[in-house]
Amino acid sequence: MGIIIGATVLMPIRKAAKEVNYLRDGRAPIPLSDATSRVMSANRGKDTGPEIALRKALWAAGLRGFRVNLKDLPGRPDIVFTKRRLAIFVHGCFWHRCPICQTCTPKSHERFWAEKFERNVSRDARNLDELKTQGWRTIVVWECELKDDIDGIVRRIGRDIRRDPNEWEVGEDVR
Ligand SMILES: [Zn+2]
Repeated sequence: MGIIIGATVLMPIRKAAKEVNYLRDGRAPIPLSDATSRVMSANRGKDTGPEIALRKALWAAGLRGFRVNLKDLPGRPDIVFTKRRLAIFVHGCFWHRCPICQTCTPKSHERFWAEKFERNVSRDARNLDELKTQGWRTIVVWECELKDDIDGIVRRIGRDIRRDPNEWEVGEDVR
């Protein structure tokens, strides 16, 4: 059955059995696999699950006084300790091409994805360089590291924060 408009018959769009609607930004090709769709829809820019988890863990560990998504800084770091000039990015493994875990690459539209990933990776590198030039130290935390050992990440950040600022090298990458 469908709705007849003039000579056009609009058939209802077939939905997946589970009636799952993924958030999509309209730019990427429709993923063929459900797993890819899930990964893609998990990226909603800022305030994703891993970022919130890290903020909560930092807060619980007494590492407060950070700001979030500072618009004026290159790449809008997710967590910024302004007084310590420490900028932290929480990167999703899929979009930012995690070097630690085996991130999946969609099998279809290969060229589209290759170009998109290349742009993302070079943009990330540019942002880190720019921050370092401006005298910021940076930490990149990968989503998978956070899943594996959030306590370890919090300890590492805590160590970096407590270090005497006089010992910092300008532009130092604290990883
Ligand atoms: Zn990863």
